[in-house]
Amino acid sequence: MSTCIFCDIIEKKSPASIVYEDEIVLAFLDINPVTKGHLLVIPKKHFRIFTDLDETTASHLFEITLKLSKAIRESDLNCEGLNLFLAEEQIAMQKVFHAHIHLIPRYHNDGFGIKANFTMYPLRKELNTIASQIKKQKI
Ligand code: AMP
Ligand code: ZN
Repeated sequence: MSTCIFCDIIEKKSPASIVYEDEIVLAFLDINPVTKGHLLVIPKKHFRIFTDLDETTASHLFEITLKLSKAIRESDLNCEGLNLFLAEEQIAMQKVFHAHIHLIPRYHNDGFGIKANFTMYPLRKELNTIASQIKKQKI
C-alpha cells in the first residue's frame, strides 16, 4: 500500500466502484457521496494539487469530465443539474492530496450547498484592480 489512497485505487490495491478508465484518467464513485452518483475524476499520475498538472493531463481530465457529465445527465439517475467542485490545499477543503475533480449530480432538495460571504456589488475600480493583478501573470 502507498501513502496515497487514490494511487492505491489506481493500482487496484484498494476497492472502488469505477465508472471510467483510460491511460490517463480514472473516475469512480465517492465513498462518502454528497448526492447519488457523486464521482471523482482523477489523473492516474500522482499530482498533489490541481495546479501541479501539466496542460495535456488537465485537458484530458476535463474532456472526460465533460463526457461523464453528459453520461450522468442521460442516465437513469434523473438528476436535474450538476456541480463541478475542485479543492486545492487544506484552506480550500482538500483532504486527499492527489488532485481530483468532484462531479456532483444535483437533485431537488438534495441538501448540498456552498456557504459564503458574498460581497454585494464591489466597485468596478476594485474589480479592475483585482483583474489586473491576475492578468499581469503569464497565462
Ligand atoms: P477533497 O480532498 O476534500 O476534495 O475530497 C476527497 C474526497 O475523496 C472525499 O469526498 C472523500 O469522500 C473521497 N474519498 C476518500 N477516500 C475514498 C475512497 N477510498 N474511495 C472513494 N472516495 C474516497
Ligand atoms: Zn496519489
